[in-house]
Amino acid sequence: MQSWLVADAHVDVLMKLLDEKIRFVEHGPELEASLPSLAAGHVATQVFALFVMPQADAGTQLHDVLHEIDAFYQQVACVPTVRMVKSRSDLRAVRSQGQMAAILSLEGGGCLRGRVEVLRMLNELGVRGMGLTWNDANELADGCGELRGGGLTRAGRAVVRELQRLSMWIDLAHLHDTGVRDILRITDGPVMASHANARAVHEHRRNLTDDVIREIIRRDGWMGLTFEASFLSDGQATVEDVFRHLDHVLTLGGEHHVGFGSDFDGTSHPVPGLARSGDYANLADQLANRYGEALAKRLLFDNFEDFLMRQLPA
Ligand SMILES: [Zn+2]
Repeated sequence: MQSWLVADAHVDVLMKLLDEKIRFVEHGPELEASLPSLAAGHVATQVFALFVMPQADAGTQLHDVLHEIDAFYQQVACVPTVRMVKSRSDLRAVRSQGQMAAILSLEGGGCLRGRVEVLRMLNELGVRGMGLTWNDANELADGCGELRGGGLTRAGRAVVRELQRLSMWIDLAHLHDTGVRDILRITDGPVMASHANARAVHEHRRNLTDDVIREIIRRDGWMGLTFEASFLSDGQATVEDVFRHLDHVLTLGGEHHVGFGSDFDGTSHPVPGLARSGDYANLADQLANRYGEALAKRLLFDNFEDFLMRQLPA
């Protein structure tokens, strides 16, 4: 494609930046979503997840989250071609200047220790979206890896109400189906899934059922297909498998509500040819060939941009 922009709803760069030898601005083997790679892929919106290992105690988790936010401020938001986005007016300013929009999200709420006041302070630091869990259980809910399969706790429900009050997005990725059902029952607003695929195409606990995908669409939410190979197919996944998931979501009516959340720097099984942010250049060409340029642009960028304009505070 001649010109395109990309919005990506999930990378784990910040976790890697805890290793102070790794530099976001440098092109190197350590980072899949380094600044040069993001620029090569024409990434104009990047959500940076705050992820810490949930096995650590809550105090250590909160410390590491703050350390990652510091790394974001020290290495990402200060780059002249990047601007931190916390609001719709920030987003409009970024578009008029042609910078990359950088947004913070929280992947897993263990660091909150069940307290909404910690969430409010993370929001003050610029965090604009959150998933309640990673794969494990915490004070808020059970993740998709918990055999017990519990739903939201009282603290989890309080966090969901606070997320809505703060205009922060609610991310369903990693949550157990029971918790997903609870969220859909206690809210009527939009929900999103930053990095997940379709379970009807590949049976995996991290993928979304058709009912949930339809509900995301009906509520004007958004979902980002992800490039972790084990969520795409059995055996070695290819870009063609990404298209199988995409075709399915389009069949469910998702042409205005689907895009991508790569999980670069967080995947353990990359897809060949789709293993770093610069590879969006190849994906853009293949999307344009397969779906036409207008739909390709919507999938790569516009759908998430529209979601942000609905979701972010003014
Ligand atoms: Zn994840």
